[in-house]
Amino acid sequence: MLVSGLLCVLCACGGFGVSDVTGTGNGTRGTSGNICPLLLVSFDGFRADYLDKYPFPNLRKFFSDGLLVDHLTNVFITKTFPNHYSLATGLYAESHGILASQMYDPETKKKFSLSNDSDPFWWNEATPIWVSVQNSGYKTAAAMWPGTDVRIQNSTPTHFFKYNPHVTFQERLGNLTKWMIEDSSVKFSILYWEEPDRTGHISGPENKAAMTTALKEVDDNIGILMDRLKQAELWEKINVIIVSDHGMAQCSQDRLIRLDSCLDPHNYTIVDLTPVAAILPLSDPIKVYNALSKCNSHMKAYMKELIPEELHYKHNQRIQPIILVADEGWTIVQNGTLPRLGDHGYLNSLRSMHPLMAAHGPAFRKGYKISSINSVDVYPLMCHLLGIPAMPNNGSFNAVRCALVGESCLDVAVVVGIVIGVLLVLTTLTCMFRLMKSSSSSSSRPFARLELQEDDDDPLLE
Ligand SMILES: [Zn+2]
Repeated sequence: MLVSGLLCVLCACGGFGVSDVTGTGNGTRGTSGNICPLLLVSFDGFRADYLDKYPFPNLRKFFSDGLLVDHLTNVFITKTFPNHYSLATGLYAESHGILASQMYDPETKKKFSLSNDSDPFWWNEATPIWVSVQNSGYKTAAAMWPGTDVRIQNSTPTHFFKYNPHVTFQERLGNLTKWMIEDSSVKFSILYWEEPDRTGHISGPENKAAMTTALKEVDDNIGILMDRLKQAELWEKINVIIVSDHGMAQCSQDRLIRLDSCLDPHNYTIVDLTPVAAILPLSDPIKVYNALSKCNSHMKAYMKELIPEELHYKHNQRIQPIILVADEGWTIVQNGTLPRLGDHGYLNSLRSMHPLMAAHGPAFRKGYKISSINSVDVYPLMCHLLGIPAMPNNGSFNAVRCALVGESCLDVAVVVGIVIGVLLVLTTLTCMFRLMKSSSSSSSRPFARLELQEDDDDPLLE
């Protein structure tokens, strides 16, 4: 009773434990009283622990004055498109419908691939944040983020590019800042860059020389980003979030799983291959499953209905009847050789699959650090920063609210420390009180008894 009462007082004072999963908020207001614009930047395949192994002087400058989240627990499967759409919607892949790099819809017989991704059919199961921002009366600008050149919910960003990997980082950034400067109603901008994912795939994350070059280029781009925002007089006036979609694992020719060695390929169609294979059986599904489940001890096979709930990768008709999940660093092929030295897509519980996140701007506390959040939490955070209503989502604004200026928050450890401290003081005081009481009663009782004995004895003596 005492403890719960104490916690209530602490919660009321500190705001600790207040639930707000809707993510709606007042937004971060700039000096003019308007909503602060928000820029979201993704460096594809930025594995969280690159930060421990490489220098990153510009990135460190960026978050030393803002927020660093050591690692994001991203969504399964840990591929580029599912995770970029989760960042933009706050939904797991089974709920937003972008489930893999290659998909097949059994009802419409439509096919999706990275080079054939512009049919709104695939994207319309969710509402990405740029559509919500526009529905709230603001404008948006996008540079190559997956889905931003597709007409989703009958709408594209106000300004956007058709995807073209040859457009440089500077061009993408230059156009975004130009749109932001020219039109103050552009409140949300979103930028995508292909590195360090590209080098991670080609050379493998353990190739120190190649990764040093690629990560220096990424850090240089962060420097260019900060300089450009300063030149445009947007630095310190807008909120900037740097994020990534997934990490990268080292693969090897010695860690290959060949499906042809386990089952005649005429029995199934491969919709997506590695490290999570989507299998459409053409003969008896149970026989196909049995053969694949015994194929290799480094690959797990699941019938769709038995995919573990915690993967949030079951309730969608685009998920095929059988999926195969390779162990970290293992590659599933039909019969060939190793396609690439680095890969991602593995279980989202693996640290090697986790990306990082950093943020800077008027909304964020300076030098604040959080060890981990879910990547679906970024969406309600962004909705809060922009003061727009969030669509139903799987994220929690509470996970990040303490990183914001103006959100009075007590750290869980501090709260527990205070409660324990108060309890210790109360226990000590109670003990001291009892001790004093018992010592005072023990010193008075013999005196009282003596008095009584005298009183009792007197009549007898008389
Ligand atoms: Zn990626």
